[in-house]
Amino acid sequence: MPDGPSGNLSEASAILRDVFGFDAFRPGQGEIVEAVARGDNVLAIMPTGGGKSLCFQLPALLRPGVTLVISPLIALMRDQVRGLREAGVAAGALTSGNTEEETDAVWTQLAEGTLKLLYLAPERLANTGTQRMLARAGVSFIAVDEAHCVSQWGHDFRPDYLRIGELRRALDVPLAAFTATADSETQVEIVQRLFEGEQPSTFLHGFDRPNIHLAFAAKDGPRAQILNFAAARKGQSGIVYCGTRAKTEGLATALGQAGHAACHYHGGMEAEDRRHVETRFQQEDGLIVVATVAFGMGVDKPDIRWVAHADLPKSIESYYQEIGRAGRDGAPAETLTLFGPDDIRLRRSQIDEGLAPPERQAADHGRLNALLGLAEAQKCRRETLLGYFGETEITCGNCDLCESPPEVFDGTEAVRKALSAALRTGESFGAGHLIDVLTGNATDKVKQRGHDALPTFGVGRDLGKAAWQGVFRQMMGFDLLRPDAARHGALVMTETARPLLRGETTITLRRDSLNRAASDRRPAI
Ligand code: ADP
Repeated sequence: MPDGPSGNLSEASAILRDVFGFDAFRPGQGEIVEAVARGDNVLAIMPTGGGKSLCFQLPALLRPGVTLVISPLIALMRDQVRGLREAGVAAGALTSGNTEEETDAVWTQLAEGTLKLLYLAPERLANTGTQRMLARAGVSFIAVDEAHCVSQWGHDFRPDYLRIGELRRALDVPLAAFTATADSETQVEIVQRLFEGEQPSTFLHGFDRPNIHLAFAAKDGPRAQILNFAAARKGQSGIVYCGTRAKTEGLATALGQAGHAACHYHGGMEAEDRRHVETRFQQEDGLIVVATVAFGMGVDKPDIRWVAHADLPKSIESYYQEIGRAGRDGAPAETLTLFGPDDIRLRRSQIDEGLAPPERQAADHGRLNALLGLAEAQKCRRETLLGYFGETEITCGNCDLCESPPEVFDGTEAVRKALSAALRTGESFGAGHLIDVLTGNATDKVKQRGHDALPTFGVGRDLGKAAWQGVFRQMMGFDLLRPDAARHGALVMTETARPLLRGETTITLRRDSLNRAASDRRPAI
């Protein structure tokens, strides 16, 4: 790359954020995007749902000219073209499903040189008119989706895929092939037919980082939790990620006072100060950097022994990327992610108050839900994490839940009581007030609103306050209750909760928070 990997990487990250609306690459995507953008021939094998399309869509915007995308399914092509156009990218398709106007528009954009991505059904390659057009169009690279369709022995064989190798030679451009089919015979066939035997840069690694220990904990005196975690790893290099700039400074000072070498880092600092921290971190052993997510890109230190999140990351993708900075040398590394209702409230309101269109907001809530599902997981974290990225058959034994499986219980009744408390109080209150109602705590606020007269008042006396906090946190984690940013975080029931309320489904909750609750249970009033 002419401007060095970090220059291109940061441009790629900006496009990832601004055009696609994602805050981090999914596992594997960053390296593939880099290789494709550089002009390598690439064969990338990623599980279904892993995010292959971004690996050619993003480089298409980094490279001059038009990217030719060959894909076997018309419906899929149309979906992608629609998505890209909504994101403001000039994309078009030439398929048999086109109207005449659609086809004309694509030809015009091609002639003007404004089209960035051209989707083409493989059948079109047989057409000499298409071939002539492609020769003139300024194609920068060819992306082949579902590349296993070139395999004559596979059940998805598409004879027209056999024309792609010849096209690559004729256009003399790099080619990036994508598939989820990992068996080695198919790979050999892809290399033979699409790359005509020339070995491409191949990306087939599982996304698992087995040396990284995964752990989450509900916030319970978070500063002390981070200090304890760091104290047990004194002298090791680590990163603490915080949700705000202000917090990085406070926590770095606290760590310093506890005898660690620690400094803070965030995007609001002078470039020179930031560089100084980066250099120190790279060179010194045992430095702790307390940072916002601004720290990390371009940090290539193999022996970071731990990463802690003092606040919940933005999405499951950000989480994976940030913890992935630990243990690049393959030696054991540890992580801890803290989370609590305030994080959920903050992240939800950031999405709701952002400027993204409604579909993107819904997708962002979905990705946050995935991370919360991981935080509240009841079985192996690695399975949950990698399962989200499409990987199956995972062996772990290296996460907090494998080491000590949580005790679970049927939480259906508790959840229904909590939902009823929220509904009967007009979905206008936060967890604190609802817990007062459930535990029969007749505070002034409860009395003023007449909530001590509700049938729900006191129905949850069997559990203590802290236990109910655990229930509410898990309910927010499972997206049964959502804080409404427009109403100061009042908890509102979601559609997901309806079947539970109706008694059509049941729910299992973790008892860990309830155990802790038992010890600090206050006497019922
Ligand atoms: P594949 O073709 O590998 O099956 P897709 O390209 O259709 O997968 O992507 C699957 C889903 O993942 C899509 O909904 C896409 O929007 C989402 N996705 C892809 N990359 C990211 C990312 N970096 N962050 C968040 N979501 C992503």
